[in-house]
Amino acid sequence: MRLRTLEIALEGLEGFGRPDPGTEQYCTPAFLAARLLHHASLLGDIGERAVCDLGCGTGILACGAALLGARRVVGVELDPAALAVARRNAAHLGAEMDLVLGDVRDRVLIDHLGRFDTVVMNPPFGAQDPHADRPFVDAALALAPVTYGIFNTGSVPFFESYLAGRAGIEFAIGGLFPLKRTFPFHRHDMVEIEVEILRMRRR
Ligand code: SAH
Repeated sequence: MRLRTLEIALEGLEGFGRPDPGTEQYCTPAFLAARLLHHASLLGDIGERAVCDLGCGTGILACGAALLGARRVVGVELDPAALAVARRNAAHLGAEMDLVLGDVRDRVLIDHLGRFDTVVMNPPFGAQDPHADRPFVDAALALAPVTYGIFNTGSVPFFESYLAGRAGIEFAIGGLFPLKRTFPFHRHDMVEIEVEILRMRRR
């Protein structure tokens, strides 16, 4: 599937009904989700693979993985309302997936999900809780040898020290994450956050 075709399919998906600022519910823009997945697909990490989307929210990454031919797709999300949106989005696309209500910090849950080839995720950027992305990285490393994530630009040195040899960062693609005014404390109609898509490989 071409990048643009994937992007168009993902653009049609439903967003968060009532986004929660505390858990940083920002819908991953379709073009960034498509870019991450298309790249992962070219590297052989999506088609015929078992893929887990951590903090799947509206399910955009999980849906895209299913469209690109993943063998098994699982999405994990803390918020039942977001999971209901993900369920509708999956149904809309006819995408097969398991959607699990749970917390990525719950080690028992993570151990029970089984093994995956690839994790995809757009974790909280840490604007509310500066360390919110750490449990996502830990869960990802427990689940799969390869992880793709969207992070704030400039996170690589932090992750290199946080990973402490557990995984290597193999590449980064830069991008801009347009954030529309979502919460009352937002002062601008739109800001663009510089982000990077990282691929991490477990050692
Ligand atoms: N890629 C998704 C979600 C991005 S926002 C989309 O585009 O819709 C990050 C998501 O992580 C939110 O849906 C939030 O509810 C979820 N989340 C935050 N902390 C979590 C945790 N500890 N466990 C599971 N999900 C979590």
